[in-house]
Amino acid sequence: MKVGCLGGGQLGRMLALAGHPLRLRFTFWDNNAEAPAGHLGKLMVGHYNDPAILQRFAKAVEVITFEFENVPVDSAYYLAQRHPLYPPARALEVSQDRLQEKILFRRLGIPTPDFLPIESRNDLTQGLRSMGLPAVLKTRRFGYDGKGQFVLRKRGDSARAWEALGGVPLLLEAFVPFRRELSVLAVRDRKGHHAFYPLVENLHREGILRRSLAPAPGLKPKLQALAERHAVRVLDELNYVGVLAIEFFEFRGKLLANEMAPRVHNSGHWTIEGAETSQFENHMRAVAGLPLGPTAATGHSAMFNLIGELPDTEAILRVPGAHLHIYGKRPGLKRKLGHVTVNFPTLASVQRAMKTLQPLAGL
Ligand code: AMP
Repeated sequence: MKVGCLGGGQLGRMLALAGHPLRLRFTFWDNNAEAPAGHLGKLMVGHYNDPAILQRFAKAVEVITFEFENVPVDSAYYLAQRHPLYPPARALEVSQDRLQEKILFRRLGIPTPDFLPIESRNDLTQGLRSMGLPAVLKTRRFGYDGKGQFVLRKRGDSARAWEALGGVPLLLEAFVPFRRELSVLAVRDRKGHHAFYPLVENLHREGILRRSLAPAPGLKPKLQALAERHAVRVLDELNYVGVLAIEFFEFRGKLLANEMAPRVHNSGHWTIEGAETSQFENHMRAVAGLPLGPTAATGHSAMFNLIGELPDTEAILRVPGAHLHIYGKRPGLKRKLGHVTVNFPTLASVQRAMKTLQPLAGL
């Protein structure tokens, strides 16, 4: 089957690595001629709304997915008229706007941090008055890895926050003093069957994911069931097909939804070595109309992102049980260049390996 993938970054590359054994062949569309997925399929290079590429891409493929959520929705809706496009363009549209996303969560009964739309300096002043401090001001669109965010801790921060982000539609959120950050990776196939990976505990620094532990240490079945109930509502509401990630704050025994990603997700990279079927394989199975594979974790895993510049990769490979993934990207500030996963039968063994890996991964 000929799969078209919008975006050719590391996620696209790992989708292709999982899809090739299932006889899936890939055409990627990216605006970067050196896109990491380029070696694993055909690569079309150009802007995501270039009409000529839109035509050529549609002609070359039979089913379409994406690995990057800032694809213009008009292009997605156009392509969806020509071929099955999964996850649905509506999921893309909702997840591109933090306000729409949070409104959807609330409508489906999924708790979120308190939030207010902010259009003007006056809205911000009023909003802070009603919400109190600390609070987080975020751009509604095109924010990722902590970009487009400002944490307000005192009254005087309001002017600086407005200076940094004002002029585009914004969202003001109550700052949640969460116990920890958790994410759920869920998958739905074309027939509407669901499967879920165990909740993952995520550590972020400066808004960027640094480390995931899976299953989340001390995970109680009740919390897992709650995450699955939340995810099912989103999946069914959007008639979703493929992998969906929802990021939560664990706070006073509740899960407050922060955001969702309608694609395979960085907090699911551990599934390559640590689950019976990886998130990448299950996403491709769902998109291609194949049955889903089992999602159980095999033992315990830790995943570290390699950010900015690659560390001594041989030192990483000398750590017993370390699995190294290098994406083939140029180094750059806050760029995710690769990741390393360890998987062992016990959490204690994972924690031992983490002690060696943490400094190598800059933690
Ligand atoms: P986001 O881009 O929304 O995923 O935010 C990046 C990171 O900033 C999150 O993973 C949290 O660590 C932190 N963050 C975002 N929103 C809030 C909030 N309302 N309260 C506390 N921390 C937050």
